[in-house]
Amino acid sequence: MKSLPIRMKITMWFTAAFLLVVSFAFFIVFLVHLQIVRKIVRDNLIETVEDNVDEVEYYTNIEQFGRNNNTDYLRIYQDGYLEIDDDFLDRVNGVCTALYSSDMAFLYGENPIPRESAGIGFCDSKVRQVKAGGYLYFIFDRKLTAKGLEGLWLRGVVSETQGEDHMTDVLRLSLLFLPLLVVCSALGGYLLTKKMLSPIQAISESACGIGTGNDLGRRIVLGEGKDELHQLAESFNGMFTRLEKAFETERQFTSDASHELRTPVSVILAQCEFSLEEPRSGEEYERALRTILRQGRRMSRLINDMLDFSRLEMRADSFACEEIDMAELVESACTDLAFIREHGITLRWEAERGIVFCGNRGLLTRLLTNLVNNAYRYGRENGRIFVCLKRVGEGMELSVSDDGIGIAEEEQEKIFRRFYQSDHSRCGTGAGLGLAMVEEIAKFHNGSVRVESEPGKGSRFVLVFPAGCFKVD
Ligand code: ADP
Repeated sequence: MKSLPIRMKITMWFTAAFLLVVSFAFFIVFLVHLQIVRKIVRDNLIETVEDNVDEVEYYTNIEQFGRNNNTDYLRIYQDGYLEIDDDFLDRVNGVCTALYSSDMAFLYGENPIPRESAGIGFCDSKVRQVKAGGYLYFIFDRKLTAKGLEGLWLRGVVSETQGEDHMTDVLRLSLLFLPLLVVCSALGGYLLTKKMLSPIQAISESACGIGTGNDLGRRIVLGEGKDELHQLAESFNGMFTRLEKAFETERQFTSDASHELRTPVSVILAQCEFSLEEPRSGEEYERALRTILRQGRRMSRLINDMLDFSRLEMRADSFACEEIDMAELVESACTDLAFIREHGITLRWEAERGIVFCGNRGLLTRLLTNLVNNAYRYGRENGRIFVCLKRVGEGMELSVSDDGIGIAEEEQEKIFRRFYQSDHSRCGTGAGLGLAMVEEIAKFHNGSVRVESEPGKGSRFVLVFPAGCFKVD
């Protein structure tokens, strides 16, 4: 069953359910029909017996009897005669009627119940069900009350199966049509499910094609429609787009990383070959070793930055968020950073008190450190750096300004890309991941970063976190 195609399974379930419902409906109809037929049989029984009450007459004088010249049945009874109309014997709707004396002696008529079981006591005007000779019968007794007829009883008898013949026909027909109906419904169900599931087939084929052909640019095409399957196809297409982007980013990252690592590795190899080629002076060895050390450190920083960045990007680590007193965070980070004093630059800060932000302390410190480090690195001799934290609307704004070399306008949107470095900073210690990391941390906190800069005058990096903070007075 498990290995059967869904189409087949649905058809089978559908057919089984259909069979069940139809059988149940047939059963109910049959039962109701049976009840109706039995009621009709009972009503006919009562009606026939009641009609026959008038068919029995009593005469005291034989002359009275011949007045119509129509002698049906004549019988001496007590001091007179009983005249019974010949209609009495007509089996209307299968009902037999018999006339009895009060001591249950059969006088006239018909009774299909065998003689031995006919000794059932009389009960006036009540339909009863009796079993006799293996068959079920309805009987209806009627006491005669007309003058001279006192003490006589009429008994109507009809077989319970009376009228059930056409029920059997209905049943036979049903049994004949049921398999036909089942076959039709199974066929219809199969064709319907095949049509309904055809988009799934298309989705599956497209997904397979994308998988085997490694072609993430392909999309599932189902045409116009808004049903669940079209939504599923849309979700798949969305997933392929994200996958394609993720693969592309990954590929770019690998190529950028290997490109960045190639330079220090080449320098290290060249320095080693140079030193081992022939005996060198102590000074030359020292210079080579210093170069190797510098490039080694650069590689190590690069690898650490890359690992940190990809962890953050993939959210591989769980960066727990807590309520942070931002003034306290800025204060403590800037106090440490102020000691750098690279190029004689001084760091000042101003943080609005009472801003509590829900974020990750480590990441926010890292963000501030990256920006201040850059400000030192690209600052001018004896310049200034200013860090400012203030509340804006429901959120907060954190900015780092310097009066350094500034950034050309055409470079301002590129500097947040991974591994991007302007030409003048290539020889420095950075790897071009600092600002990409800043942007990623801002995104992690639902914030954004922008730069305002003028070459030769300085730069201002502004981080805006629109929500997630509140003020404590
Ligand atoms: P890097 O390691 O090169 O500093 P970043 O991602 O931190 O990498 O910065 C990317 C580029 O942005 C730098 O190479 C530099 O050209 C420019 N940049 C960043 N911060 C500043 C700044 N405060 N002043 C001028 N240029 C900057």
